[in-house]
Amino acid sequence: MIKDVGIGLVLACLIFLGIQGYNVIPLLFLGGLLYFLFLTVGSQGLRRRQHTVLQASQVPTVSFEDVGGQENSKKELVEALDFVRDRDSLLALGIRPLKGILLVGPPGTGKTMLAKAAASYTDSVFIATSGSEFIEVYAGVGAQRVRDVFRQAREEARKRGKKSAIIFIDELEVLGGKRGKHSSHLEYDQTLNQLLVEMDGLTVSEHEVLVLVVGATNRADLLDEALLRPGRFDRVVRVELPDKTARYQIITLHVRNKPLAEDVDLHEIARQTFGFSGAHLESVANEAAILARRAGKGEIGQTEFIEAIEKVMLGERIDRQPSQSELRRVAFHEGGHALVGEVLKPGYVSSINISPRGATLGYVRNTPAEDVYLYTKEMLEDEICVALGGAVAEELMFGNRSTGAGNDFQNALGLAKRIVYGGLSPLGVIDEETVPAQQVHDMITAVLRREEERAHRLLCQFRGVLEIVANRLLHDEMLTGEELRSMLLEPQPLPSSDWQVRQGPA
Ligand code: ADP
Ligand code: ZN
Repeated sequence: MIKDVGIGLVLACLIFLGIQGYNVIPLLFLGGLLYFLFLTVGSQGLRRRQHTVLQASQVPTVSFEDVGGQENSKKELVEALDFVRDRDSLLALGIRPLKGILLVGPPGTGKTMLAKAAASYTDSVFIATSGSEFIEVYAGVGAQRVRDVFRQAREEARKRGKKSAIIFIDELEVLGGKRGKHSSHLEYDQTLNQLLVEMDGLTVSEHEVLVLVVGATNRADLLDEALLRPGRFDRVVRVELPDKTARYQIITLHVRNKPLAEDVDLHEIARQTFGFSGAHLESVANEAAILARRAGKGEIGQTEFIEAIEKVMLGERIDRQPSQSELRRVAFHEGGHALVGEVLKPGYVSSINISPRGATLGYVRNTPAEDVYLYTKEMLEDEICVALGGAVAEELMFGNRSTGAGNDFQNALGLAKRIVYGGLSPLGVIDEETVPAQQVHDMITAVLRREEERAHRLLCQFRGVLEIVANRLLHDEMLTGEELRSMLLEPQPLPSSDWQVRQGPA
């Protein structure tokens, strides 16, 4: 409206000036140029700005119950949030307020949901924004936006009579990347500095709104270290891709409002969706419903689900679906580590898992032991034996090893060096500088060889258990330490016939 009137007025003036005999051509040029600049720069800036600042909202309705799986992340988050809820004891004891929580994990695993649930758990207003929304081509804008977001969080909370506000920043690595790494200009650095300033300024007092920043990223390694210092994002909560049990819970949540046919087996669907995120599973439930509708059915059947899984897998390019034979290898490998560990150090295994986690497909979770400051030679040797157990199990079962054991070898080598350089080997105390390199090398090799043979003997003795463990892992993706221990107590079952018969390591 105002713009139209303005244009009209300007035109009228120009015509008037023209009639008076002035040369209006340069004026027209100038006007056109200004108008063009206003269109491209001004409106873009304004539009984006509204976008950033205006995703404010009341307390979200998402609760922790709506987030399937992620038990550990939820527990850690709730522990941290209890500090926000119990402001009085914070004040009374003079505890530094928690200012930032960082959620780290792949996309679609529920980080946004967790942040929203955090807001409803603490009865806070929720402001959502994303790192990329702060980064502008025009200097100074990003920093200003950071100020705006914090100001708005406080205002919004006051307006709604809430005592706290949560600012959620998705894609934190875009705005919080390492400083000095961006070649273009200083915009990123200014924006990040402003965020640090705002976080440092957060305080807790009786009447003020308490602001908590929840950041999300998949690339914590890209973040500027300053962000991770105490008093900033000092809680880091990992949010992993869901394992089978978690996938079952998530798919169950997403079919709550959908009519299912008799034949639907959600456990089977969970089994077939290795590597899927929560968001992928939501798509599966949705796709299945669409397929049922297309087929003119009133209920969703198992075939629709299976077809939906295929569709989502093709459409979304799920990171890397490992083949069945790869998973089998992983199952034996992890089983090997766990079994050697449990036999040498009873109570060692907390759980054995096959599930995608960063670059690896499996891992053995240890029972947290007390910190050890002094190692005896025997303890180091046991550790080496456990580290080599994975590769030895692969070799026993498949006749060869894989690149999956590279890390294990590095670990084992490091431990063997500690034995030799620590004066614990038959060489006795040695002087690193004068002892011949060949002698050290021979000794390290001997230590490693001996432990490899020990792992081999152990796994041959318990190979029946190893097979059961591996099969259970392939089916359920997880086995607890208790289950493993009870298997070890039973009479040893015989291995199946496809066992590689190998008489001791070459
Ligand atoms: P992120 O922030 O980690 O990228 P979101 O929280 O935005 O993931 O999740 C996107 C969608 O995926 C959610 O709206 C929800 O439908 C689904 N989803 C993801 N994780 C879960 C989960 N753990 N439980 C239930 N639904 C989930
Ligand atoms: Zn390994």
